[in-house]
Amino acid sequence: MSKISLSLHDKHLIETIKWNKKIAMKVQNNSNRNINEISELLESFYPFAKERMGFDKDPEVRFESDPKNAQYVLGKTAYYNPEDMTITIYVDGRHPKDIMRSLSHELVHHAQNCNGQFDQGYATKEGYAQEDDHLREMEKEAYLEGNMCFRDWEDGYKQSNPLQERKERLFYKLLRNI
Ligand SMILES: [Zn+2]
Repeated sequence: MSKISLSLHDKHLIETIKWNKKIAMKVQNNSNRNINEISELLESFYPFAKERMGFDKDPEVRFESDPKNAQYVLGKTAYYNPEDMTITIYVDGRHPKDIMRSLSHELVHHAQNCNGQFDQGYATKEGYAQEDDHLREMEKEAYLEGNMCFRDWEDGYKQSNPLQERKERLFYKLLRNI
């Protein structure tokens, strides 16, 4: 009988299955975009982010289309609503990685909400990131922790899925040549 030894890929697969069981986040796609590709990444990323950021309640994520907004260079990309724990992400014309990074940022705000940091009723009106010290700190944390969480997950994911990574690179190379 041959000795069973798990390859790194198998180990990752088992980890992924374990993670999938933990996914409880609702995803609602109200956009015109097919989100299959993003959903697949999310299955791996969400449990990773949840564990790392340490929140216990699951938010709901809504993918939205807003063609007018997509035309503006500084159009809105995403926001978090602490009242009903929903994350809204505008997905038109964006690279999947950019969408995931946005999600990571908003998940930090969700973690802050679970920690009671929104409890004082802060309104996120325009200019809040400059005028309100408390919100500015929260925003700084979301940028730093959100980006680093995404980056660390991405590096681990690529190592575990080298074939997927090669396929993706080839795909974007082909896209550039069209
Ligand atoms: Zn933010």
